[in-house]
Amino acid sequence: MPPANKKKQGKVCRDCHRVVDGENCVICGTTNLSEDWSGYLVIIDPENSEVAKRMGIRLPGRYALKVR
Ligand SMILES: [Zn+2]
Repeated sequence: MPPANKKKQGKVCRDCHRVVDGENCVICGTTNLSEDWSGYLVIIDPENSEVAKRMGIRLPGRYALKVR
């Protein structure tokens, strides 16, 4: 049994900044992921979000503001 109280932070796609659960990005299909990111961002309505437009986000979901 794995330790249940150890919460692991997800990975983020370096290309589109999307928070990814698996080993590759659902949008780009890339495995170019980073665990070193900050600024949790939830995009619900990309077409009416200035942040989404600036970041080039076209799909709703969870994103990171900064990825290293
Ligand atoms: Zn991506």
